[in-house]
Amino acid sequence: MHKDVEKILVSEEVIQHRIDGLAKKVLEKGEDNIMIVVLLKGALVFAADLFRRMPVMLDLECLNVSSYHGGMESSGVVKFLDNTMPNFEGKRVVVVDDIYDTGLTMKSVCDKIEKSGALSVESCVLLAKDKKHDVEYEPDYVGFTIGDEFVIGYGLDYKGKYRNLPYIGVLKEEAI
Ligand code: 5GP
Ligand code: MG
Repeated sequence: MHKDVEKILVSEEVIQHRIDGLAKKVLEKGEDNIMIVVLLKGALVFAADLFRRMPVMLDLECLNVSSYHGGMESSGVVKFLDNTMPNFEGKRVVVVDDIYDTGLTMKSVCDKIEKSGALSVESCVLLAKDKKHDVEYEPDYVGFTIGDEFVIGYGLDYKGKYRNLPYIGVLKEEAI
């Protein structure tokens, strides 16, 4: 375990096993016209493990969005940092994010993609925080529900670091 980590919430093994199930669920709904949209940077690790378990023809796009700006709390504003958007027309879009917290990011992204002519839009997150979310929206696929605490690892950062840890963990007080 990394020296800055207080405890491991979800181990590497448990994460990998759960992603098998998530990939199957997405494909059970259909295998055609899938476009995976990865929300950078947090969802990069999760998405890579997820779509490699989908042995079908699919498109892959990334969107650069930001709401935390490197800290420990949502700024309440979702920024789209890309100059252009992918062409979503005729696609069954599956938006992939690391964690569902206030819900603002996923809701904003899905709304925007829906308005851009996608066939349908679904959302898939590795983690969802067990709390009252700020928006009326529920992700379609959730890996694990966790408590309302700040987590790092498996793509999730604190001030840009810890994304490379293979598990989901909680930081020690002295590392913050
Ligand atoms: P939301 O818009 O749902 O409030 O937040 C979603 C985004 O906030 C996630 O994509 C992630 O980047 C960031 N976020 C939310 N909770 C956490 C957390 O516990 N740890 C880290 N590292 N990022 C988080
Ligand atoms: Mg994010």
